[in-house]
Amino acid sequence: MRPIVEVVNLAVAFPDSTRGWRRVVDGVTVALEEGEAMGVVGESGCGKTLTVLALLRLIPEPGRIVGGSVRIGGEDVLAAEERRLCWVRGAMVGLIFQEPAQALNPVRSVASQVVEAARLHGEVSVSQAHALARRLLAEVGLEDPDRIARSYPHQLSGGQRQRVLLASALAADPRVLVADEPTSALDTVSQQRMVELLQRLRESRRLSLLFVSHDLSLVGRIVDRITVLYAGETVEVAGRETLLADPKHPYTRALLETRVAIGDGPDARFPTVPGRVPRSRDWGRGCRFAPRCPYALRQCREARPALTVLERGRTVRCFLLGDAEEPVA
Ligand code: SF4
Repeated sequence: MRPIVEVVNLAVAFPDSTRGWRRVVDGVTVALEEGEAMGVVGESGCGKTLTVLALLRLIPEPGRIVGGSVRIGGEDVLAAEERRLCWVRGAMVGLIFQEPAQALNPVRSVASQVVEAARLHGEVSVSQAHALARRLLAEVGLEDPDRIARSYPHQLSGGQRQRVLLASALAADPRVLVADEPTSALDTVSQQRMVELLQRLRESRRLSLLFVSHDLSLVGRIVDRITVLYAGETVEVAGRETLLADPKHPYTRALLETRVAIGDGPDARFPTVPGRVPRSRDWGRGCRFAPRCPYALRQCREARPALTVLERGRTVRCFLLGDAEEPVA
């Protein structure tokens, strides 16, 4: 059976004053099976959010999807006409972002925003939509949903706003929930509660979940499999236990090392991966991780490694384990 979400070799480009179009995502492959939770991890600048936006053809102008394919529920998203795209955006996929304050309209009540989401994607009357909104606000764990429904976003905490956004995303009863850094703006306690809520919703609604985050330890708490992105491409995919116990790509290993605190208590600090993610203009023709990789060989700077299947469900992009990509004609 085909994955419910299938992104293959996605490429996104923006205009560039010197070279026409510059690819900022080039080589992202992600497959989410029905009912599973997939984590997508990588540092800032690895292409996580652009990949999420590309899923629903929401790349901001003047950006464009210039390569690859995106299929959701069997629908070819990149070729879909407006009506089918609307179906994908509502009935197939619910989306929540990192910053609920920006996603919610500050001058409209919570009720009107959740009701709008319910009516946009489903054939329900105004009174049915209001009843549904109250049920959804209760389902996402908001106490006193009637009071929350009458409130405006600025009257709520960050955790409450994120739950309101989640209620809106669930309004059309989607089969897939895409959560892009859903806990980054929250404190540790709210973060843990949000993770527990997503797990509960996943089970009760039989949702497939795409959980996008820079935080590998957080992702490891909730997902079944993990896709690691680096500099706009997929570099490793594996089951959670396998990836955490036996990472193959040097970048995944480096990310895992950053989970181990140096010291403890309030003085504890977490190391970062040395160096920084290269900007797309600095990618060059070799492996994009080569400038930071302790194992880099000459070959790594001259050709781009291919995403290679090691075994079922496990792929890696590294010359230590695979071959070079066929040069593009
Ligand atoms: Fe390191 Fe080479 Fe593997 Fe890239 S291909 S991750 S530079 S060993």
